[in-house]
Amino acid sequence: MNNQYFYEGTSGPWELVIGLEVHAQVTSKAKLFSGASTAFGAEPNTQVAFVDAAMPGMLPVINGFCVEQAIKTGLGINADINLVSVFDRKNYFYADLPLGYQISQFLRPIVGKGHLDIELEDGTVRRIGITRLHLEQDAGKSIHDQHPEKSYIDLNRCGVALMEIVSEPDLRSAEEASAYVHKLHSIVRCLGTCDGNMDQGSMRVDVNVSVRKAGSPFGTRAEIKNVNSIKFLAQAIHYEAERQIAILEEGGEILQETRLFDSARGTTRPMRSKEHAHDYRYFPDPDLPPLVLDPTWVDEIRQTLPELPDAKKARLMKDYELTAYDASILVSEMEIVAYFEKAIKSLKSPTSKVVKLLANWLIGEVFGALNRESKTIEACPVSPSHLAGLINQIQVGVISGKIAKEVFILMWETGKDASSLIEERGLKQVSDDNAILAVIDKILAEHHSMVEEYKSGKDKLFGFFVGQVMKTMGGKANPELVNKLLKQKLEG
Ligand code: ADP
Ligand code: MG
Repeated sequence: MNNQYFYEGTSGPWELVIGLEVHAQVTSKAKLFSGASTAFGAEPNTQVAFVDAAMPGMLPVINGFCVEQAIKTGLGINADINLVSVFDRKNYFYADLPLGYQISQFLRPIVGKGHLDIELEDGTVRRIGITRLHLEQDAGKSIHDQHPEKSYIDLNRCGVALMEIVSEPDLRSAEEASAYVHKLHSIVRCLGTCDGNMDQGSMRVDVNVSVRKAGSPFGTRAEIKNVNSIKFLAQAIHYEAERQIAILEEGGEILQETRLFDSARGTTRPMRSKEHAHDYRYFPDPDLPPLVLDPTWVDEIRQTLPELPDAKKARLMKDYELTAYDASILVSEMEIVAYFEKAIKSLKSPTSKVVKLLANWLIGEVFGALNRESKTIEACPVSPSHLAGLINQIQVGVISGKIAKEVFILMWETGKDASSLIEERGLKQVSDDNAILAVIDKILAEHHSMVEEYKSGKDKLFGFFVGQVMKTMGGKANPELVNKLLKQKLEG
């Protein structure tokens, strides 16, 4: 078994060491060095400029918009922006790479050291170092499964702008690695620099994993390529940790190699032994001068950054006294915060107590219902203003929290708002002393011997009487009032 940080081997605990390289596709309509479209799902080879296909004499021209997105992302991960960076050729042969090299950045990336903070379930916050972010081109796609003897090539992706974001080997568990990818995802989505769509390959993760005995130097790592979901990320890490520990405990050695994750089996298998930088013969691309940024432009971009998830979280905690955990759930996706903030606007009195109630409803009931039906918040049948309407009804005492759950289900099913459903179905809370007293009298008369027992000291029976009154009144009696009146009756 393994706990969060340590894997138990026969020789005792092993520590996991993980570093991630995330490829995030820039949300740009055009490619990094050409005007060809980047739209997803087009017919093969319909979005290929001459330069993407490496036609003789074609020259790359840098796309300023992509540069701006890289700067934004760098600022969003608290990183240094390098005012001078250089594009290099990373040389290798592959049929889906007509140039014979990938234009990337090696020694001088556009973004240097940064960091981001991850929150773990137990409330701890850990700061994870980021080594660099560089811009590079994507390659095309080889298709091997459509013909028994032939491979097909689709160059649509060829030349699409990617940001490669490399972390320090600071992560120590699958949970931390997942939290890191989640955080990065929420930052790029918030900035609008990458759509974060892992299904369509707009965000892919290369996972570097090694194990060591606590306090020892880092062990040799294996790199698992192109993991495309957070679930697979955790599976790949667990599998790899166990594979490496088994080898080491039998006295074997870990090979530094690139491995592939097999999502059907939940395992990894070798792809190629590790290539070295010198194998790629990196050198500055003579077709592209160094990229020199105007510091006033970088400052302008800094000034126009949106409020990032961490700042949003701090604001929600300060303004509404939300817990760190609740606040981080609410800011984890832009659509969720947007829903929450819209709902707040429809609250009659948005005091921190009421906003907290709203947050509890959103995280509890709404997320629960969305999960059950595998819906995203954008497809939520209860609109933000309708949810706020329900909270308003609870807050002014028209319905109890318990009836509210019933109303919520009706709202979900019908799309109607809370007040019309309460009216229609007669769910209004009864706060009329006399109506409640009448029921109390009836209940106490029916349970005469229990009243005697209560009076002789069996305090626990109080809850029974409350329950009976509520049941008789179809759950609609104001619970506070029932408590108060019952006490008066029994003690008077
Ligand atoms: P490469 O470009 O060859 O993949 P890098 O030096 O850029 O190599 O490192 C890639 C990633 O590997 C980084 O995210 C880094 O944090 C991680 N890494 C480096 N050493 C280790 C190690 N011993 N165990 C786990 N991850 C590591
Ligand atoms: Mg790598």
